[in-house]
Amino acid sequence: MYYCLFCKTTHPKGAAGEIVFKTGFHFVQSVRYSAGLCKAALPTNANMAG
Ligand SMILES: [Zn+2]
Repeated sequence: MYYCLFCKTTHPKGAAGEIVFKTGFHFVQSVRYSAGLCKAALPTNANMAG
């Protein structure tokens, strides 16, 4: 799981287009998650092929 800074919630890892930071963390109910951004936070012109 990682904490999505865009959606303000956690997402499972492994989705295409996501970015998970290696040096940022966010606590949710005392659980530490890596901070990241899912594809929803990325420019809509990004090519999601592949
Ligand atoms: Zn998200």
